[in-house]
Amino acid sequence: MGFFILLRKVTRFGPWPATAGRGIGVPPSDPGPEAGERTDLFLIYPPWAVLEDRAMLQNCLPPLGLLSVAAHAESSGYRVHVMDVHAERADEQQLRERLRRHRPRFVGMTVLTNMCLPAHKIARICKEEVPDCVVVAGGVHAEALPERMLRNSAIDCVVRGDGEKAMIEIMTGSAFSTILGLSYVDAGSVQHNAPRPVNMDLDEFPFPAYHLVNFANYFPAVGTYRNLPAINMLMTRGCPGRCTFCNSARTTLRARDPKLVVKQIKLLRQDYGIRQITFYDDTFTVLKPVCLKFSELLAAENLGLTWVAFVRGDCFSEEMALAMKKAGCHQVLLGIETGSEKIAKRIGKPIDKERYRDAVRIAHDHGMEVRGSFILGNMDETWETMKETLEFAIEIDIDIFQPTISTPYPGSALYKEAVDRGLLKNKNWYEYGQGTVLVDQPQITDEEIYRFERYAFRRFYLRPRAIYRLARRITRFRHVRDYVLSAVILLFGLHRRQDKRNWECWKGLTEEDFFDREIKEPEHVRLTYELRQGNVFV
Ligand code: SF4
Repeated sequence: MGFFILLRKVTRFGPWPATAGRGIGVPPSDPGPEAGERTDLFLIYPPWAVLEDRAMLQNCLPPLGLLSVAAHAESSGYRVHVMDVHAERADEQQLRERLRRHRPRFVGMTVLTNMCLPAHKIARICKEEVPDCVVVAGGVHAEALPERMLRNSAIDCVVRGDGEKAMIEIMTGSAFSTILGLSYVDAGSVQHNAPRPVNMDLDEFPFPAYHLVNFANYFPAVGTYRNLPAINMLMTRGCPGRCTFCNSARTTLRARDPKLVVKQIKLLRQDYGIRQITFYDDTFTVLKPVCLKFSELLAAENLGLTWVAFVRGDCFSEEMALAMKKAGCHQVLLGIETGSEKIAKRIGKPIDKERYRDAVRIAHDHGMEVRGSFILGNMDETWETMKETLEFAIEIDIDIFQPTISTPYPGSALYKEAVDRGLLKNKNWYEYGQGTVLVDQPQITDEEIYRFERYAFRRFYLRPRAIYRLARRITRFRHVRDYVLSAVILLFGLHRRQDKRNWECWKGLTEEDFFDREIKEPEHVRLTYELRQGNVFV
């Protein structure tokens, strides 16, 4: 009984109490522009994972893409407002009120796959409240399926690729037909303009407009932080990898000047007391000189920060580990994906297992933890190959085992294969959260994959060594709370979230509720990198 009372205490306020940082940015009582004025650009981050218990274990950090668009627009003289519906746990009524106050001329929305249905509804709400606003959708889901997004007449256009410059061109009134990387409807059919050349100079863009969000709404993922408050950052964009399950595959790699990144971190530390950073770069170590320079400069500042970053098994070395650790990196996330060589080839990530063994050893030798991410239910997966994965995770002695279920995101090669071979189970985008089996495969059942996932958690974490490691990591009460919650959700599947958010309004939606334009969908499935960098529309 006492256990359940404790559980209620730790979960009753939503994912976590809003204490991850000092309250900065826009207060909830934001009055909007002066009487008679309008906000130029109202940027919205829709709610995601509204059906997912395990979303409680993931992070909720500022939407960097949207904040970069916001910063670029502000630096061009526009009045910008950001509403993170997900982080603010806002309902339909709150969104409507905010829109009425701001009466924006333009609305920009990020659309990732599992927020796609709420995004359709949000576009409708925008047009109902401010009929003359222009609604622009961007983000990896919108750009992968522009025709499908534009079947909702509340969406005026879809931006493919980086949104900063495209948004300015839209706001300055350029004709849609002249804006590179734009998809829109003209005379009843979808027009796709040629892709925008990839912007290689990321330093041209200001740093994300963190001041437009309230840090008190954000928190890092379970197991990824030593200190608080935490924030996320990007030093690079793009990845040369070719993993079939990933939208970043083959997208152009670019980096910011490490000097400017360190300068930004200093400001975040001084102004907001930030003490932990999660780098969101697809592969932080892929550009070795950039990684080394950044680490050297950050270490020299001695800011007392800790941070975590994603690395690839074949892009990590003693030299990098030494520099990163000196600069405060305490954990690397290693995307291992599978312990089966056959499956590794199948998913386009055929990295020698020896490289992973070395990477884990190097990280441990330098005092860094390793969070290993793995995918279950890959194409051609069997019970045996999943067992190889689990055994490999145990053998190489990672600290945190993070399995997910293979998810065919639109724009990935996996989605293309699943559609082309008729294996895709459904397009209920709510389920695209890495916890649901969405590809039919004759050699394995859904139940086997779910059963193996539960078994793998128990087998990995209910070992004395794993328990000892977790116990050693506890340095604050918040860590205890994280572990209780993780155990309840992942090991025992006991928890059903007491959802204090009034999110019924974002649930139970279907695309058909919003499709009011007759638009033919393309015959061929397109890949994200082709949509951004090649002309797949000619
Ligand atoms: S999974 Fe990682 S390495 Fe592979 S394409 Fe995506 S970002 Fe690159």
